[in-house]
Amino acid sequence: MTQEYVWLITGANRGIGLEMVKQLLQTPSNTVIAACRSPTKATELQELVEHVSGGKLHVVALDVTSKESVHQAAEDVARILGGRGIDYLVNNAGILPGGLDTAFTMDVEVMQEAFATNVAGTAYVTQAFIGAVEKSAKKTVVNVSSTFGGIGADQGVRAGVAASYAISKAGLNMLTYKEAKEKPDIVAIAICPGWVQTDMGGENAMYPVSVSVSGVVKTVLALQPSDSGKFLNFEGEIIPW
Ligand code: NDP
Repeated sequence: MTQEYVWLITGANRGIGLEMVKQLLQTPSNTVIAACRSPTKATELQELVEHVSGGKLHVVALDVTSKESVHQAAEDVARILGGRGIDYLVNNAGILPGGLDTAFTMDVEVMQEAFATNVAGTAYVTQAFIGAVEKSAKKTVVNVSSTFGGIGADQGVRAGVAASYAISKAGLNMLTYKEAKEKPDIVAIAICPGWVQTDMGGENAMYPVSVSVSGVVKTVLALQPSDSGKFLNFEGEIIPW
């Protein structure tokens, strides 16, 4: 029998999040909740809702930096799911506000902005939805991170740039580790999607978004309980923290 899974993806209106919604909808047994800041402006999501039969896609408003918005979204999602859990919570929303800033030149307020979205926002969202995640079969939290946030491997030329972003993603990695250790019943991982052709990655990035996302989805579907607390790339390989 085909497994039916519920996915919730933040930042689902463009880039990696939108592509994930599209790919997940190709499997009819998936129910997808696409969360984004402005559903009325999310034209591609709205078109998918219209053209996807069976009510498998739901769009909810969610700004990860607003506690009020996160709690409202949790209520909206509970209403949509009517008691079903969330198998896969994908914390994808993220920003790179400082561009290629450096540790000695970055604007600390910009670093705090990166932190508010990439770390605190992700923490809020997971706190609000963890009850629904724990009700599901897969109980999986996927935090979309970046190799920029790892200090276990030589970063080469990347070591000297994108400081505020990298520091926030290092924080996200530790958040993931904490989530995995504090709740042994769930699977919590951090995953790097690679350098991807999106608004954030730019057109010269290494991977088309379709390639990155199919790797991320394949990796996530193959996760085992023993993978909790790992930092993986989109090909399922371990990245040193
Ligand atoms: P994009 O800039 O293309 O999209 C970012 C998404 O995050 C948008 O949907 C955006 O919504 C959303 N978002 C930003 N802030 C908030 C917020 N406060 N609340 C809700 N949603 C928000 O980025 P990508 O698709 O490339 O990146 C997705 C994730 O992948 C990020 O976490 C990023 O750090 C990570 N990543 C990306 C890489 C790349 O090369 N592209 C490399 C490594 C990691 P809105 O349209 O409203 O702004």
